[in-house]
Amino acid sequence: MNFLTKWFAKAKPVETPQYEKPTIDCSNLILLSGPAYGDKTFFGSFLLNAVSVREWSLEHSKSVWSTANLEQQARVFLPIWLEGATYDSDSYITLIDLPMRQVLVPYTYDFYLKGWLSVYCHQCSKFYDTLVDNDHSHQKVGHTSNWTEEWLCPSGHILHHKEQEVRWIVRKTKQD
Ligand SMILES: [Zn+2]
Repeated sequence: MNFLTKWFAKAKPVETPQYEKPTIDCSNLILLSGPAYGDKTFFGSFLLNAVSVREWSLEHSKSVWSTANLEQQARVFLPIWLEGATYDSDSYITLIDLPMRQVLVPYTYDFYLKGWLSVYCHQCSKFYDTLVDNDHSHQKVGHTSNWTEEWLCPSGHILHHKEQEVRWIVRKTKQD
């Protein structure tokens, strides 16, 4: 057996990382983002209503697919886990793992518009159902769009601040 055959014989098939399902039950309140996770862009604590998002998560798991393994497994598991959430169980706030946050956080503003979010401003020590949308400095240079996503509490404290950038992929048209 030469070196290469020996090496190939030893090579194991690549294992896909396995998502570790949470062992805790989901209460009615999920901490979507906030300082408790060490978030750099969310300064308020964003709480999501678990019962409200249940049906959405089922539809979402059927229509969206990601190549990121853990995120995809979390996406499929979410509706099953949310089954256990009831309106009676809001005595505690459930913290979720990173793959679940990767599934849910991009839809934060959609959840807000649907009325499923409650945001705690740590400076006011108060919960709010209404945010002040302060998105600004929209610019499009070439194929890149930049803007600042910023949401404030009604008293003007910053709850979320993020510089966003989107690059547009432009299809080249055939020149005759
Ligand atoms: Zn505030």
